[in-house]
Amino acid sequence: MIISITFDPAFDFFLPDRHQRRGLDYPLIRHASVKDMIESLGVPHTEVGRICFNDQDIDFSFIPDTPGKLDIHAVNAPFDVRSPSMLRPEPLDRVRFIADVNVLKLGRLLILLGFDVACSSSFTDTEIADLAELESRIVLTRDTTLLKRRKIVFARRIRSNLPYDQVVEVVDFFGLRNQTAFFSRCTQCNQPLVKVAKTDILHRLEPKTKKYFTDFFQCPACRKIFWKGSHYDAMKKTFTSHGLKAPDK
Ligand SMILES: [Zn+2]
Repeated sequence: MIISITFDPAFDFFLPDRHQRRGLDYPLIRHASVKDMIESLGVPHTEVGRICFNDQDIDFSFIPDTPGKLDIHAVNAPFDVRSPSMLRPEPLDRVRFIADVNVLKLGRLLILLGFDVACSSSFTDTEIADLAELESRIVLTRDTTLLKRRKIVFARRIRSNLPYDQVVEVVDFFGLRNQTAFFSRCTQCNQPLVKVAKTDILHRLEPKTKKYFTDFFQCPACRKIFWKGSHYDAMKKTFTSHGLKAPDK
């Protein structure tokens, strides 16, 4: 028994032999869900936006038991994770990420833009999948295999190589251009910064900082102090040069 599978051209990135693989006949020799079928061909389920069997919408658990035509469509940008769909009936109530070890720089830059991103170089794949499920986080990774885990529902397999390009990729893919808030979180702890009175932290400031700056913010977790100095200006300039005009907190 044969299932005739057609992949959306957007899946070329994952398919080993692009032009032959985009359309192929899949011999059905065992009971397998469409999730397993699609992933056995190289595409992680997190990249799939819609599946049709003989023109009927189906979900990942569907097990074909008759010959037929299976069309696999990619998630289209902008991907609104707050809207339910056939494949993801339980949407997220807000946008939160978890970055794996290969995209930590991306994770820190997204925190700088104000997004909630869990990132640590010590996360194992199992911890990432567990946290994604437990805290309803979108997984960001360059590891395709990680994304085949069932617990991971929302994700992006990062394509770009350079961190700032990766930020643009994520912001555009999830349609987040209007949701940035520059300088609102601690890049080490991912905690929202709180405004702090200069008089309360005066003893911790260098003479020049004391002299030239008036507005200060503090991380409630690590107590680090932030102000809009030259580092801030440089980062903001770099974001702007990549087309990301983040408003301040
Ligand atoms: Zn901190």
